[in-house]
Amino acid sequence: MNRAADCDIMIIGGGMVGLLLARLIQQQQPAAELRIAVVEPQPPAPREPGADLDLRVSALAPSSLDLLQRIGALDALPAATRHPYETMRVWQDGGGPHGDHALCFSAAETGVAALGAIVENRAVREVLWEQLAAAPALQWIDQPAEQLRRTDDTCVVRCGDRDWHTRLLVGADGARSWVRQELGVQSRAGGYRQNALVAHLATEVPHADTAWQKFLPDGPVALLPLADGRSSLVWTHAEERTAELQNMSEQAFAACLQQATDAVLGAITCTTERRSFPLQRSHAEIYTGERFALLGDAAHRVHPLAGQGANLGFRDAAVLAAELGRHLQHRWADPGDPRVLRRYERRRKGDNALTLGLMDGLNALFRSPLANVAGAGLGLVNRAGPLKRLLAEQAMGRDIDSGD
Ligand SMILES: Cc1cc2nc3c(=O)[nH]c(=O)nc-3n(C[C@H](O)[C@H](O)[C@H](O)COP(=O)(O)OP(=O)(O)OC[C@H]3O[C@@H](n4cnc5c(N)ncnc54)[C@H](O)[C@@H]3O)c2cc1C
Repeated sequence: MNRAADCDIMIIGGGMVGLLLARLIQQQQPAAELRIAVVEPQPPAPREPGADLDLRVSALAPSSLDLLQRIGALDALPAATRHPYETMRVWQDGGGPHGDHALCFSAAETGVAALGAIVENRAVREVLWEQLAAAPALQWIDQPAEQLRRTDDTCVVRCGDRDWHTRLLVGADGARSWVRQELGVQSRAGGYRQNALVAHLATEVPHADTAWQKFLPDGPVALLPLADGRSSLVWTHAEERTAELQNMSEQAFAACLQQATDAVLGAITCTTERRSFPLQRSHAEIYTGERFALLGDAAHRVHPLAGQGANLGFRDAAVLAAELGRHLQHRWADPGDPRVLRRYERRRKGDNALTLGLMDGLNALFRSPLANVAGAGLGLVNRAGPLKRLLAEQAMGRDIDSGD
């Protein structure tokens, strides 16, 4: 390794994706030879005793859960922060969750134990953070990256009052990526004019380990099963409705939501605050270049309607770690070797573009005058065995290898 640099790989951003990448690389390169630095100004704060589950949860596909399992992180997640779902029911406004036009995936019919799990984002970060903190040769930098320049064979990043020379710079710093902007990487971005409102709900009818999703004219509403029996709400709606949904009384909100979900889980009580997030799409034109790579939301931001954003980021991390791992078996290998970075980009960009396009298309279709046709199509897919199986496998990430 080049001792003129301070580190071999610097990962900017310790969200779920950046930490997973660090952990995967560190696991396959346990020797202290490879020096990794993670820059994250907002490490997971200690959890208050008895604190409620955080509002940010993700539906993780089996391929993502397998990755967490591989590095020993899945079993380390507290039981209260993860819950498998065995069924997914999708229907369209006017169709009813159990009607002919509903689409239903079940773990049993797909031949798996679960279709995925609803996992608290914060718990994933905490576990990965703890695992990494115990690792040798890992440098934590808790100040934001603020300036970037290059020398002939390093990227130089200023954090606080110190410059860090790295041979490979990885941008895992989220949708508004500083790394992407500093490098001048263009991104095709656009708004959906939709926001997503999230909250946790207690419901009269048990969730039955099912992820429920209904397409409404201004966006999908999803109820995702949590370990404590509650459901996590992700309600996508036209942005002009956000103030109304945020400000209405608890009773009015519960009634409105009950109606929006065809009362599939009976009476609803919102047990947390309601928080809204603007939804945007973006896709970086390139993922890699001279001594840098982008991944996770820094490279692509996707509509959350099928819960794919973190899953795509996890696959990016798996593939980048695998490509680096293969290359770094050679003692004098350079982690910034453009051939390695290009292989990562080639393997991930197409899959991400496909998912982005599919999510955009579905979102637009169910908001268009063709929504009724699309609704009927859900029922048709439900009855078309091979197509349904293909969709299930794509959603579960089965076609993507674990990165090896
Ligand atoms: C409402 C909603 C529901 C969703 N549901 C799902 C779901 O069910 N399933 C799913 O797979 N995905 C889901 N997603 C998407 C998922 O949340 C994201 O794709 C994922 O969290 C992105 O992770 P990341 O690590 O790439 O980025 P982030 O989580 O944004 O992490 C980026 C990190 O970089 C750090 N950072 C930023 N700037 C700097 C800097 N200059 N220097 C150093 N560090 C910096 C930040 O502090 C942060 O910790 C959902 C998204 C939304 C909005």
